[in-house]
Amino acid sequence: MNATRTAVVTEPFPDGSAEPHPDGSAEPVPVAAAAPLLDVRGLTVSFRARSGPGRRTTVLRDVSLAVRPGEIVGVIGETGSGKTTLARAIAGLTRTDAGEVEVDGRDVRGLRRRARRDFRRSGAIRFVFQDPLRALDPDLTIGTSIAEGLAVAGRGSRDDRRAAVSDALRRVGLDPAVADRLPGAISGGQRQRASIARAIVDDPRLLICDEPVSALDGSNRNLILRLLDGLRRQPADLAHPAVSAGVADADPGRGRLGIIIISHDLSSLAGIADRVVVLYRGRVVEDGPIAEVFDRPRHPYTALLIASAPSIRDEDGPTPPQLRRPAGGPGAERRPADACGFAHRCPFATDACDHTPAALPAAAGWTVACHHTETWRSSLPAASLPVTSPPAVAPPAASLLAARPPAASLPADLDLPVRRRDAARPSISAAAGPGATATSTAPASAPAAASSTAPAPARAAVDAVDAGAALTALSTKE
Ligand code: SF4
Repeated sequence: MNATRTAVVTEPFPDGSAEPHPDGSAEPVPVAAAAPLLDVRGLTVSFRARSGPGRRTTVLRDVSLAVRPGEIVGVIGETGSGKTTLARAIAGLTRTDAGEVEVDGRDVRGLRRRARRDFRRSGAIRFVFQDPLRALDPDLTIGTSIAEGLAVAGRGSRDDRRAAVSDALRRVGLDPAVADRLPGAISGGQRQRASIARAIVDDPRLLICDEPVSALDGSNRNLILRLLDGLRRQPADLAHPAVSAGVADADPGRGRLGIIIISHDLSSLAGIADRVVVLYRGRVVEDGPIAEVFDRPRHPYTALLIASAPSIRDEDGPTPPQLRRPAGGPGAERRPADACGFAHRCPFATDACDHTPAALPAAAGWTVACHHTETWRSSLPAASLPVTSPPAVAPPAASLLAARPPAASLPADLDLPVRRRDAARPSISAAAGPGATATSTAPASAPAAASSTAPAPARAAVDAVDAGAALTALSTKE
């Protein structure tokens, strides 16, 4: 596990949020010393299948992950890989078949009826959803929505809750007067900030954000990401005392908020996450420090995801065609039921892949589930489709973050794409300056580029600068 992480936001605001260091440098924040805030071990979830009575579809298989106080963990994977089911299982909203889910040392999976309801109301885990317009009741004012959970849990008086709502709105950079407005009367970015205010109003331990920025434009996307990055640095007892869940302890670092971000947008995660967990067909295939994983993925599927995301991929790294198994090529034969789940798509599959690989340590704090972790790169075919233009990338995060105003007065139209791989890859950063746009038509820049005869809809994906668009294209194409 990483001993420290590289931070993009370092100095505290008077209101407890955070501001980048003026010179853009990053303070290391220890996250590995504390015991996990969330510890998931061997989680398996299945649902009744529609194909016949008694049959079940396994959605998560033996999933393990940990989140420490103050840590942001990104969860990525194609549609249907089990990301949302994992989030629901962690929150106790989905029945699980096996495994353990501990939140702050407490076994959540073993809770029954009243204890489970009390746990949900405790505010230990809160969600932030993709679409704030749907997440907030359109007929309730922002203030009423934020205070709703407090009222249900019976926390504080009406005045206490009103004060807590104002505090929460300030923490997300909104004027407390927004509390009297309806969701439809504020912008999309403000709505998402109001959703986050609702989630943090009683100081949760863990925030689970399911695609929190995918419905937002670029400027609001970066605002929300910076906000999340600032929230996990704040102490845990900022909520109004009358409504706080009372989770802070003697160690201020111990009480920090842990965050899980489920996202298709790999470039967003690259800017703020400490670690990334890659799911494929309900299994964790790679789990490690995000900078290292994105720099040199050790699982072929992770490599394919990253190669398919123009905004983060390495121009010198393998291209999507190199990481795809040619149709009808070796490995196309039928595999046994317990084969590696990626074998039918993997160009490096061998007979050994007829058995599911275990997740094994590949480096400190880095696990990979592949039989050929150390050798598949040596089997890469020659790149047949060279890159003809540099990939479009976001501007460097540090320099942009250094220019932002205090959180309390953050303008809604601030455009600060988040990216931190530029330090490790000066050549990529130099290739695209601020305002770079998706103009690349390189065949290797997106999954749809595997063939120059690809149909028009597939070629359209080549032009997608958004990593999320590329990932979506990947999941629908294959
Ligand atoms: S175990 Fe085999 S099939 Fe699975 S990802 Fe590794 S090389 Fe490919």
